[in-house]
Amino acid sequence: MNRYFFLLFIAIVITTLRVSAQRKGYWQQKVDYKMYIDVDEKAYQYTGKMTLKYTNNSGRPLSKVYFHLYFNAFQPGSMMDYRLAHIADPDKRMIVNTGTEEKPVWISKIASLTPEQIGYQKIEILTYNGLNTSFKVDGTLMEVTLPHPIGDGDEAVFEMTWRAQVPEQIRRSGRNSQEGVALSMAQWYPKMAHFDEFGWHLDEYIAREFIAPFGDFDVTINIHKDYVIGASGVLQNPQAVKGYDKRAKVQATNNKVSWHYIAKNIHDFAWAADPKFVVDSAKTERGVSIYTVFIPLGKENTSNWKQALGLATEFFDFCATRFGPYPWPTYTIVQGGDGGMEYGTATLVTGNRNIRSLVGVIFHEAAHSWYQQLFGINETVDEWFDEGFTSYVAELGMQHLFHKKGGVATNPTIDAYRAYYKLALSDKEEPMSLLADYYHTNYGYSNEAYNKGAVLVEQLGYIIGRENLEQTFLTFYDLWKFKHPTPNDFKRVAEEVSGINLKWYFNLFINTTRKIDYAVTDVTDSAITITNKSNFPMPLDVLVEYADGSKELFYIPLREMRGEKPAENYTLYEGVKRTTLEDWFWTKPTYTFPVRKKVSRVQLDPTQRLADVESGNNAYER
Ligand SMILES: [Zn+2]
Repeated sequence: MNRYFFLLFIAIVITTLRVSAQRKGYWQQKVDYKMYIDVDEKAYQYTGKMTLKYTNNSGRPLSKVYFHLYFNAFQPGSMMDYRLAHIADPDKRMIVNTGTEEKPVWISKIASLTPEQIGYQKIEILTYNGLNTSFKVDGTLMEVTLPHPIGDGDEAVFEMTWRAQVPEQIRRSGRNSQEGVALSMAQWYPKMAHFDEFGWHLDEYIAREFIAPFGDFDVTINIHKDYVIGASGVLQNPQAVKGYDKRAKVQATNNKVSWHYIAKNIHDFAWAADPKFVVDSAKTERGVSIYTVFIPLGKENTSNWKQALGLATEFFDFCATRFGPYPWPTYTIVQGGDGGMEYGTATLVTGNRNIRSLVGVIFHEAAHSWYQQLFGINETVDEWFDEGFTSYVAELGMQHLFHKKGGVATNPTIDAYRAYYKLALSDKEEPMSLLADYYHTNYGYSNEAYNKGAVLVEQLGYIIGRENLEQTFLTFYDLWKFKHPTPNDFKRVAEEVSGINLKWYFNLFINTTRKIDYAVTDVTDSAITITNKSNFPMPLDVLVEYADGSKELFYIPLREMRGEKPAENYTLYEGVKRTTLEDWFWTKPTYTFPVRKKVSRVQLDPTQRLADVESGNNAYER
């Protein structure tokens, strides 16, 4: 065996050892879209023609399928319209003040849309394996009753033609965004609903989250020759369109140009188009082509985009080492929409921002390429799993690139912790296991999804150890890329990597609103007593400073962990003796351990990764 084969052999052995946390019997559906789109840019309408191959791997026959028709949300009287009218804190982008500045009267922007301004997707012809098929549309969902079921393992072919109108820009997609982008095209095509072991996911579009099966997209967009497009996937004919190739000869027929895109193994295809768009690009060290497609708004703005492009390439390389390689050949950052939103190999972001904000939004959306696009997380159910993990990845990237010299903070997600504490001490917290759409407030939803979700990850590192967390991310990548993992799948990988049982942690932190509160309650010359003042047990790091100036780190594992985290590598702990104490268990409210020297200071959780909502009682000073 030469060196190469020996290394290959070792790699295979390691991979085989790792795959134990894979779920046996796991399956997923597959879709392949081929679409021809013809855009009437003056009327903000388009016609679509689709051939959709749908592979049923579910182990049972399917007599119905469902499609999302997201544009239908932008019609007066829709579920999204009612949601806006009745939620306590509606999204400011989606409401309009019809009163005065002193006496505002906010109404849903959707309520006032005229028939020329609404969005719609009207299905004209739908066949299944060549047979005419009946369908019924309720709001943003279409139910299709099949003339005969799709057998297990069978591939069904749907042919569809439809007409669509692009709504006024209200949320994510639409015409003439605030920044002047003509067409922001997200959730713009009839999209096969998601079916998995939990059943059909038939969520109407009321503004939030998505889930869809993976598949290949072959999309041709026919649009006026003056327009430039930024889209998901790989542009197949850059030499025949405007913007991408200096030597391009734009090939127009009847003043229109066809843009041809192919995207492999993604679950959402988006694009935007505008005559003012310019295109820039750069390559990451690992060879991914990153594109920016934007409207230049002056010198500073153009320079921001240039800088952001450079930083984005570095961010992709950073993520590749920490979270697993980005597997697609391109990523396209397109100006469009109303903030930032992730799609397969692309994002739509608003671009009129300062450099920090532009980079922040790009990092966040790019981080979703892992947590949501590559791991097809069901955001409608586990919104914190995509948003929280994404916030975590983006924050690590920000710190890595902007604090290179100063090193990464002890807790890189401390801002997320602070926001979570505020939420936890408000009356707005609901269990994170709640379906994304059903939170009482946008405040509660966003702080749980983005901040409590990020806290869950960083605190997991506190429980299993920072290096184990890093290994968990990489093993999870190997096992779950291009699949639809649940939070439990991540938990199982973390358990197998660390040898620590995490049942209690995931259950209490996700399914309840219980809060952590530990306190140093008694210190004598011979013992320290700590009290669990909450109903949420956790392991503890306790840093003790003695009167003689020396320090000792005591580690108290929790019995239900059935394991211990290894010593962690923090500057704070350099030269500090670490002592592992006996397990604590959750039915016992206080814990006392002996000390042999006079104590001057006791500090619970010196790295600030324990989400203790009452930190005022975490330290003792003599
Ligand atoms: Zn996000």
